[in-house]
Amino acid sequence: MYLNELARKPDELKGVGPKTSKALAKAGVHSVADLLQYYPRSYEDRQTSVSLSEAEDGKRVNTIITVLGQEYFGWGPKKTLKVWVKDDTGSATLVCYGRNFLADKLRNGTTHRLTGLFQYKFSELQSSSFEFEEVIPGGEMSRNFGRILPIYSLNAELTQGVLRKALDSAMTGFAQYLEEELPLEVIKNNGLLPLSEAIKNIHFPENPEKMRLAAETLKYRELFYLQLMVGRRAWERRSQTRDRANLTGVWVEKLLKNLPFSLTKDQEMVLQEILGDMSGGTSMARLVQGDVGSGKTLIAFLAVLYCRERGQQAAFMAPTEILARQHGENAAKLLEPLGIRLGFLTGNLKDKNRKYLLEALKNGEIDLLIGTHALFTKDVHFPDLGLIIVDEQHRFGVNQRLALKKKGKSPDFLLMTATPIPRTLAMTAFGDLDVSLIKTMPPGRIPIETHLCRDDREEKVFEWVRREIDAGHQIYFVFPLIEESEKLNLRNAEEGFRLLQEKIFPGIPMTLIHSRIPEEEKRSRMGLFTSGEAKILAATSVVEVGVDVPNATCMVIHNAERFGLSALHQLRGRVGRGKSASYCFLIFGETLSEDGKARLKVMKESTDGFRIAEEDLKIRGPGDLTGKLQSGFLQLKIADITLDTKLLTQAREDAFHLVQQDPGLLSPDNKGLREVLERCPPYPSIFLESG
Ligand code: ADP
Ligand code: MG
Repeated sequence: MYLNELARKPDELKGVGPKTSKALAKAGVHSVADLLQYYPRSYEDRQTSVSLSEAEDGKRVNTIITVLGQEYFGWGPKKTLKVWVKDDTGSATLVCYGRNFLADKLRNGTTHRLTGLFQYKFSELQSSSFEFEEVIPGGEMSRNFGRILPIYSLNAELTQGVLRKALDSAMTGFAQYLEEELPLEVIKNNGLLPLSEAIKNIHFPENPEKMRLAAETLKYRELFYLQLMVGRRAWERRSQTRDRANLTGVWVEKLLKNLPFSLTKDQEMVLQEILGDMSGGTSMARLVQGDVGSGKTLIAFLAVLYCRERGQQAAFMAPTEILARQHGENAAKLLEPLGIRLGFLTGNLKDKNRKYLLEALKNGEIDLLIGTHALFTKDVHFPDLGLIIVDEQHRFGVNQRLALKKKGKSPDFLLMTATPIPRTLAMTAFGDLDVSLIKTMPPGRIPIETHLCRDDREEKVFEWVRREIDAGHQIYFVFPLIEESEKLNLRNAEEGFRLLQEKIFPGIPMTLIHSRIPEEEKRSRMGLFTSGEAKILAATSVVEVGVDVPNATCMVIHNAERFGLSALHQLRGRVGRGKSASYCFLIFGETLSEDGKARLKVMKESTDGFRIAEEDLKIRGPGDLTGKLQSGFLQLKIADITLDTKLLTQAREDAFHLVQQDPGLLSPDNKGLREVLERCPPYPSIFLESG
């Protein structure tokens, strides 16, 4: 019997009645399999002895005591029993608040197993929170002592006792018959426990070492399955072959020749990787990671030219209209002169214009279609779509990507992101993509200086900004909200803008954008800032990605503590794009927590997007980035991809190795894996939604 085959209801277990069964269901436990995988949240070690002499503040004593004497203190209803006890190393008192009836049990001269939390009070070692049971010569120890007790997460109806009893039943009834899932080789090489033993020891550990091993085994198991799915998906993709293309790079050379600069080493390398993919016998699925301004867009355009050389069309999808438009403008500058025919499609293109564009596309008169998610609406037909580029891919859902993919036969995929994806996530959420990194920036960039400032001293920031404006530069002001909120005492963009306009910088031309301003109007206001007419752009985080105004040298972020680190990094990336020194001011509210301060300090100290993303992941957990992923197939019950990095890496290596040896899992050694995977929810696609 495999673990996840144990679909029986918990109430079939001895000692589990309808009431307990209902309480378990509330905790998400609907079957014996669920119950066995309802892992303890922590343990109480009543096995390792800890003598009274070792009792420090907070450390739990676990020893054998003899009762020395009893006394009472207080009067009337407050009269309380106090019992003097000793073990081999020292003595202490047990204070029995509300438990005077213990006098009968803790009689002078009797011996007991005792566990409790002790404290020095009035130079006396005392406990009022203790459990004990009498040691009777020849008698048996109860289940509550002499072992490591599991502590479970509870709800209103569940108690530790109920859970322990249910698990005891499940253990004797089922756990010992569990069939192995992982190949023996994998268990042996990693020094793991057999599954049945791991399950037994995670709930009722024989000793601390077995407990550790059980946890490691079960974590490994989860991570191994995850990576097995990732590995199999990658293998599936690679097994769908196509004709190789012999690309000479004529079109690419044309663009490179026109550029006033040469590619950085990293860009060069990524371009080679893309060439390898695009001329290869299987379709490309590559994620290019590079900080804002590292030159990814240029790489994407070069890929379009390889696609053009193959005689196919390309689609370039951006998450917002502003960003799509910017790519469109760049493409017009760089690609159109080479004879690449461009189309631009967003939701705002309507009626006749839309019809003409789609006609042209269908007739093969467009080589590169740039736009927003409008690209994958039903009536968009490409004669031969060969390349799909998705910018800031984590903002697109998996369904959207699939819809676009269906518009070609087996199109190449190029995903670009400036949100650095921490290594552990890259190995899971995006685990079956090939990853390229652009680490170095184009030469000549001056690093951005970051300053933290409390909001009652923001006048200093304004002075600085004034000097920058006088020097002819432009400024971003970012606010966490669009308009006033009753609940949150935060600066909002509407009010902030009014203040800037009327009080702080009267007479300086400025403009405001946020998501509630109509697209048309937003575009024209953006235009004011891009052209340099407006000196200040006040905005919400809509300027987070893509906006490129090299003359802007200051980024001022109000209530910076409200933003995620990665978002702050993206915002900061809006400046430092020109030749002048640039500054980022993070203004925070007075009520900033220690944690919040630590986060902002990371921003001050680092401009390394990867380090910032790792910190972000540590602070916030993977939930944000993985979103759907966590709630979907990746239901990790015990492993944590942010903490169990070493296990994750090992599991990945083992799983990928196995897929290489036996992709169909056909060998008898892999029967367990095959059975288990058949019961797993399907791994959604090569692209997982993550935001
Ligand atoms: P990203 O898409 O990574 O944010 P872009 O491709 O938009 O970056 O490049 C940012 C700016 O740097 C653009 O103005 C681009 O022309 C320029 N650029 C790109 N590659 C280089 C390079 N190798 N040397 C100098 N400038 C470059
Ligand atoms: Mg970009």
